[in-house]
Amino acid sequence: MQALKKRIHIGNTIAGNPIDIVTYTLTKGKGKRLHIQSGIHGGEITYWVQHKLFRFLKENLKAGEVVFVPCANPAGWEQRSYFYTFGKFDLYDGRDPNSHFPGKADGSLHQRIAHALTDIAKTADLGLDLHTARDSLPYVIFTQEKYLPLVKDVGLKYNFLDDGEPSGSFDAALDPLGIDNLCIECGSHDEYDAAKTEEVFNGILRLLARLGMIDGKRAPKASGGSYYFRDHKKILTRDAGYVRYDVELGKPFKKGDTLFTLHPSAELGAELPEIAKEDGVMYKRSPTHIYRLGDETLHYIPKSRLMKV
Ligand SMILES: [Zn+2]
Repeated sequence: MQALKKRIHIGNTIAGNPIDIVTYTLTKGKGKRLHIQSGIHGGEITYWVQHKLFRFLKENLKAGEVVFVPCANPAGWEQRSYFYTFGKFDLYDGRDPNSHFPGKADGSLHQRIAHALTDIAKTADLGLDLHTARDSLPYVIFTQEKYLPLVKDVGLKYNFLDDGEPSGSFDAALDPLGIDNLCIECGSHDEYDAAKTEEVFNGILRLLARLGMIDGKRAPKASGGSYYFRDHKKILTRDAGYVRYDVELGKPFKKGDTLFTLHPSAELGAELPEIAKEDGVMYKRSPTHIYRLGDETLHYIPKSRLMKV
């Protein structure tokens, strides 16, 4: 087993210190190549999965090469406000760092970072881009139906087929190169949840087994069925105030159930229940109880839009 730690130099901070993307590569003979990156958005901790996988593969990689990029966007993680790591948008230009792929060698800082990441990933057989989504259970976002067998291997329950116009996220670098790729939302922002980490870790083991990179016996079978959806719905607040969620993530609700209750701040004592208009399941909600008028609250999948993987 060969292990190699490498620094890819992007440039310097204003203080004159290097901005480097650090990669860790494990190689064992000839085989397929997996690229796995985390943290293109600062504050989305998927490091837990990388850490667990790195330790596992140091012992169990059978053939091929795995390139780990545990902090894909070193600039995004330095945007701090009190204890909050503000990494979803670049505070300089307001752009989402995950909107620049395949990137630009002589562009803005985040365009250069995207370009460097594309360069690392462009010889992979499979690219995985790990994120977290507000408050959520783990799920896969994928761009083409041909990736459904991979989604099934990962084995998460509800998965999003986002096959609309490319938005410059990591898939916009890999799809045109013909490289299979998945985005995995590993859970909620700034969270440590051992069960979610384990679930995603096991899903990645099944992908590694498919690629012949680990012994299939080391990958536990997926439990329970997987579904995917194209269409989801989001509910915006009807007034400003405080939201108490009444349904649980991943637990199906029925038409007529109360999804959440808004306590409008302009009228102490008032309550505005949000009633479900159809059967469905909440897969993501905003990571706050504090809402302005028209803010997004929960995202749900109508039951009629769920398809079996
Ligand atoms: Zn993200």
